[in-house]
Amino acid sequence: MNIILLGPPGAGKGTQARKLVDEYGMVQLSTGDMLRAAKTSGTEMGERVAAVMARGELVTDEIVIGLIAEQLDGEAGDRGVIFDGFPRTLAQADALEALLSSKGKSLDRVVEMSVDDEALIARVSGRFSCASCGEVYHDTTKPLTKEGVCDNCGSTEFVRRSDDNEESMRVRLMTYYRSTSPLIGYYYAKGKLQSIDGLGEIDEIAKDVKSALGL
Ligand code: AMP
Repeated sequence: MNIILLGPPGAGKGTQARKLVDEYGMVQLSTGDMLRAAKTSGTEMGERVAAVMARGELVTDEIVIGLIAEQLDGEAGDRGVIFDGFPRTLAQADALEALLSSKGKSLDRVVEMSVDDEALIARVSGRFSCASCGEVYHDTTKPLTKEGVCDNCGSTEFVRRSDDNEESMRVRLMTYYRSTSPLIGYYYAKGKLQSIDGLGEIDEIAKDVKSALGL
């Protein structure tokens, strides 16, 4: 099954994708993670995208479509894929359709997760994650059980995204409404859209995601 998790920054797409990976062995393709990896690896592309990402704007369609094409050429194409943070523009959505159909595959469903703006800003402002296993925490709503130690893997290294601050977040939200939200109508028209409320307990939302996917 190939699916898209669609929603504004901080909606919980990554968290829910990780749950589907754990439970069903699907492959998560997050263009945000790929771009952050490119940034830290010091490649020329990484340097080019760093400033754009810090501002909360979108990197070019060409770059992200190239990243996804590479992954679909590899092993990821043979298993169920969760697209997380991609597509973000209509051009990316068209490119994804063409890429999948060139491999005899198609998109099964799109789950839109909606959360109101103030809740998104609060969520993202306190967000940090384990540098080792990627488990996501929040200063007030999901703190570490034991200070300085990851509940999931015991690591003591944590990271905060440089774009997880209120100023970048306001740009990221505006970018979402301007460039990405038209995809809601696009996938609705294709009969693929399922919308769920992204506000609430992570496990409750996971149930809604599963039922939206017919799992
Ligand atoms: P994310 O981790 O999905 O919130 O993405 C972090 C940042 O990476 C975004 O604010 C964009 O600057 C960039 N980015 C991630 N995915 C895309 C995409 N599909 N198209 C354009 N830019 C993207």
